[in-house]
Amino acid sequence: MLIPAALSDFVSLIFPRTCLACVEPLARGEDHICTSCRAQLPYTDYHKLPEPENPLARRFWGKLPVRHALSYLRFLRHGRVQRLLHQLKYQGQSEVGLVLGRWYGAELSSYGLAADFDLIVPVPLHWKKLAKRGFNQADSFAEGLSTGLVVPWRAHALRRTEHTASQTRKTRTERWLNVATVFEVAEPAAVIGQRILLVDDVLTTGATLEACAIVLLAAGCAEVSVATIACADR
Ligand SMILES: [Zn+2]
Repeated sequence: MLIPAALSDFVSLIFPRTCLACVEPLARGEDHICTSCRAQLPYTDYHKLPEPENPLARRFWGKLPVRHALSYLRFLRHGRVQRLLHQLKYQGQSEVGLVLGRWYGAELSSYGLAADFDLIVPVPLHWKKLAKRGFNQADSFAEGLSTGLVVPWRAHALRRTEHTASQTRKTRTERWLNVATVFEVAEPAAVIGQRILLVDDVLTTGATLEACAIVLLAAGCAEVSVATIACADR
């Protein structure tokens, strides 16, 4: 049922809807993120670059064959992107992932990339963490991308087998060892022969995505591409 605009305005008066990036009130018709923030988000536009010029693609060179290395936004501290990711991860605002996924999926689709993916697979959380947080932040981005790209997604294709310790205060090698053995393919029949778009909320070192991609390739998927909401510069 469509809510009449007058009623929607009345509800907004009692429960003000605010932009998840800047906390200013949203205007009618704005979808979780205001028009001003949407115009000013630090888009990477990596999908518009040829592979040798894509800095994210270069980070996987020599480690992993990646078809497309994509990230919607650049991760900048103390700005809109950090606020959005915080809302998503710690405030339970899964709408952040859904909205950004839809927008990014539509953008990638307009560049013809939808044809390069058969299946979207989110990086899984350990079930203990999932139980504590109630949702996997990568799932909402996968679901949004699925809508925008019109490509199916599967929440449980991958599984985390161990509870990883916090990644902070670890060297790159320690982080790698920490994640390298903790993923397995839970649904082998679903990934075999598929061109998979592996997604996560944020890319820092890339070790988590690498570890997931390795098990997917070992399970016989045709190729792996990666996409995150944001990626940190090194
Ligand atoms: Zn805003």
